[in-house]
Amino acid sequence: MSGIESFHLEPSTARAFSLLSGGELTVIDPLGKQVADLVAFCGDDTNEWLSSGRTLDYAGTLRLTEGHILYSNRSNPMLEILSDSVGRHDFMFAPCSREMFHRQYGEANHPNCLDELAFALREYGISSDRIPTPFNIFMNVHIEPGTGDLEIREPLSGPGSRIVFRAQMDLVLAVSACSAEKTNAGALGPIDLTLTRNMECIRCKVEDNT
Ligand SMILES: [Zn+2]
Repeated sequence: MSGIESFHLEPSTARAFSLLSGGELTVIDPLGKQVADLVAFCGDDTNEWLSSGRTLDYAGTLRLTEGHILYSNRSNPMLEILSDSVGRHDFMFAPCSREMFHRQYGEANHPNCLDELAFALREYGISSDRIPTPFNIFMNVHIEPGTGDLEIREPLSGPGSRIVFRAQMDLVLAVSACSAEKTNAGALGPIDLTLTRNMECIRCKVEDNT
C-alpha cells in the first residue's frame, strides 16, 4: 500500500514535509536547468541532520549519484539515491542567502534558499542557523584541475530530469527551487516534487502489532 502526493514549487519558494522510512521522494526539474536544494533532519530528533562531510567521506567522491547513500552527522543513512537521470549535483555549497547576494553581488534582500528553507521548516521548530549544507540537486560545479578553483556552470538537467531518493529513516525534509540566477543558467524556474509514502513502514507494522 502506498500514498502518492505531488507538490509544485514556484520559483524561489520552498516546502517542508515529513517522510517515513521506506518512502520515496522524486525531485523533478520540469523546464530544465533549475537547481533544488535539499536538506534533511531525523524525524525523531532534529539534532541529527544531513551531513555533507560524513557523506563525502563515506562515498569517497564528489559525484554522488544512483546507489550512493546520504548520511547524517551521526553517520546514519538518511537517504539512498535510487535513480538519477542527470548525475551532476553539488554537496559543497551552502544554500544561497541574503548575505551571499549582498557580499558577492551587492544586492540587498534578494530572494534566497536559506530564508525560504527556514520559513518552510519553522513548523518543525528548525531555524535558519540549523540548516546544514544542502544536497544541491542538479547544481553543476566545475573544479579546475591543478588550481582547485570552483566555477558554477549551468545545470545539465533538461525538461523532466529527475532524481529519486528513498528515506532510510523517518525524516523531516525541505526542498527549495533555488533563487540564484547564476546557478540556474540565468533564469529561475519551478521544481516539482512527488512523495510516495510507504504505508507498510516498519514502524506502522510494529504499532499495528502492539
Ligand atoms: Zn539557492
